Amino acid sequence: MSDLPSIPLVRRAFAHAERTAVVAREGSFTYERLLDASERAASTLLAGEDDLAGRRVAFLIRPSFAHVATQWATWRAGGIAVPLCTAHPRPELEHAIADSGAEILVGDAELIDRLEPIAAERALRLLPADELLAAPAAGPLPAVDADRGALIIYTSGTTSRPKGVLTSHAHIAAQIESLVTAWEWSSEDSILLVLPLHHVHGVINVVCCALWSGATCEMAPAFDADASWNRIAGGGLTLFMAVPTIYSKLIAAWEGRDAEERRALSAACGEVRLMVSGSAALPVKTLDRWREISGHTLLERYGMTEIGMALSNPLHGERRPGHVGRPLPGVEVERLDESGRPAPDDLAAELRVRGPGVFREYWNRPEETAAAFDDGWFLTGDVAVVDDGSYRLLGRSSVDIIKTGGFKVSALEIEETLREHPAIVECAVVGLPDDEWGERVAAAVVLRENRRLALDELRSWCKERLASYKAPSRLLTLDELPRNVLGKVTKPEVVRRF
Ligand code: AMP
Repeated sequence: MSDLPSIPLVRRAFAHAERTAVVAREGSFTYERLLDASERAASTLLAGEDDLAGRRVAFLIRPSFAHVATQWATWRAGGIAVPLCTAHPRPELEHAIADSGAEILVGDAELIDRLEPIAAERALRLLPADELLAAPAAGPLPAVDADRGALIIYTSGTTSRPKGVLTSHAHIAAQIESLVTAWEWSSEDSILLVLPLHHVHGVINVVCCALWSGATCEMAPAFDADASWNRIAGGGLTLFMAVPTIYSKLIAAWEGRDAEERRALSAACGEVRLMVSGSAALPVKTLDRWREISGHTLLERYGMTEIGMALSNPLHGERRPGHVGRPLPGVEVERLDESGRPAPDDLAAELRVRGPGVFREYWNRPEETAAAFDDGWFLTGDVAVVDDGSYRLLGRSSVDIIKTGGFKVSALEIEETLREHPAIVECAVVGLPDDEWGERVAAAVVLRENRRLALDELRSWCKERLASYKAPSRLLTLDELPRNVLGKVTKPEVVRRF
């Protein structure tokens, strides 16, 4: 190798050279091959220059060795990686490419045609991923300081156009170290990636943590419930991380198997040492059912693109259903009351987060960056209370905290109750503007087959379980809830459906 890189994640890989880093459709790759491929690809990206000096490389590559190698190549050439969402239509791809000012685009064989018109129109350099990785000899690579920008991830943008969240190599290293410590990652670990790689969950929590630890990351090009079960049954995995909708789909797939297969799948879960859920609230029903099926009490954690992970239930010790646990190592979390003093545990207050993993800026948006911080604390927009030291999320202040008749109510809490209703499969609670009440509590529900539900009936059922002002006064039945590619319900769309 021509350099000993200063990028923490890349530097560590030299210590694990012989171990298997990535197993994907294309084959099995050691750390040495990852270092070699990314070094050569970095030279190709540089095309004779000394340093990309923070220039952006956007890539549309399905989860694969090529994805990771392109990301590392970008870093080693001194660039900033902009992973694009493989499920996005052209306008959204264009937004990320234009907003980040990417100058180089990389696409895999299946997706590159979607980048071609964008590259042509904007006169950008376009490289097929396999060509990039097949590059011949490497030349000298720049020294890349850990404080340099590394990654721009576009946030889901439920309320506005997606914003680019810029993190440095040092931020990424801090986010990884916190999780590696808390969840005791080691080189003996092996994880199955079923999440997309344009989002913090898949990028940091799964791939980066695995590669930091010298562990193996097996990648499915996209999530498939039966394929995931078959892989779990194949043995050898020690970790699994997913969003609640994936666990629901795995539950449904398990229920679709015959008794003997079910027993075998459940038994195979015993080999896994930790299963994690996050990125959206885990319904207690899902947690309970998953425990029956797999024997695992899912470890629920809370985080955000801007901060990495902040709160987590413990690896060892009690995991409380409906709670997201305590601050992770190196992360400070506070909640303030209206006068700026520490809020009492039972007061619903916004989470503020500080620490070495907190992002630097929204790309090219100085005003929004400034508005997101107060005195060095990142304002998450998520509201929580604390029960015996463990945080319980009430939702996002912008969409999940509904102000009705002078009361503030949590959509998440009402949803958790509605899911207990025998006719309801899924639900999303939103506030609808209302002259009389300020906002009205409205529930969109997906019903079990052949079931009906009238508003009056739902309201009287709710009033036996919740304060009457929390009972929905509008009801809408849908075939399915609108969700983004990560499976999160898109609440502004729910509001529009009403
Ligand atoms: P993203 O940046 O796309 O990962 O979205 C972050 C948001 O997801 C947070 O601000 C929360 O609103 C939500 N979120 C993440 N983890 C959880 C969780 N365990 N429970 C409820 N909401 C969560």
